Amino acid sequence: MADSADTHDLSTLSLDELVACHECDLLMRRPPLADGERAECPRCGYELYSHRHQVIRRSLALVLAALLLYIPANFLPIMQLNLLGQTTEDTIWSGVVGLYESDMQGVAVVVFLCSMAVPLLKLLCQLLVLLSIAWDIGRGYGLLFYRIYHHLRDWGMLEVYLMGILVAIVKLADIADLSLGIGLLCFVGLLLVQVWLEVTMSPHQIWRALSGEDAYARD
Ligand SMILES: [Zn+2]
Repeated sequence: MADSADTHDLSTLSLDELVACHECDLLMRRPPLADGERAECPRCGYELYSHRHQVIRRSLALVLAALLLYIPANFLPIMQLNLLGQTTEDTIWSGVVGLYESDMQGVAVVVFLCSMAVPLLKLLCQLLVLLSIAWDIGRGYGLLFYRIYHHLRDWGMLEVYLMGILVAIVKLADIADLSLGIGLLCFVGLLLVQVWLEVTMSPHQIWRALSGEDAYARD
């Protein structure tokens, strides 16, 4: 827990030694953290930041795993549909193409951006940020890519897409012969790895490592 008992003498501290709670704006002395520890706001309980062990190596492994899953998740069949003797295999990419060809170009572009383009750009930004820290090169570009990543975060909507797929599966199962494909497994895997990556890549540690304040994040 962050120590706020000495709030009266905060004015004597430099900005680097202070931290403000994102939720309730309480100003505190920044507590030093050991591996695996996290700091919480004493007033509202919000997690201020955490210090994860081997954050760069673990995040790199997760980014690479997510990138490996990206191709099969988007281009392998999510489901196979057998209706009146006709069999079709649907992938995320074929869904985008299908929308485009049925005169719904606007929807096709939005689906393409939110389910394919933005998730890939997010992963590539994360990869470049991590590599710039791990190899200690191009920190300026690393900062730029990390800022871009934060702008893109809200536009990758894989979880919304997964909900859509699940609803479609439930609805279609009544009217057609449906079998699930390997693409769905990869898609769920991609989603889980991305969530795990977001939790692992502690922003506080990444920003500090990018600004060259700490060498510890490279461990
Ligand atoms: Zn708070």
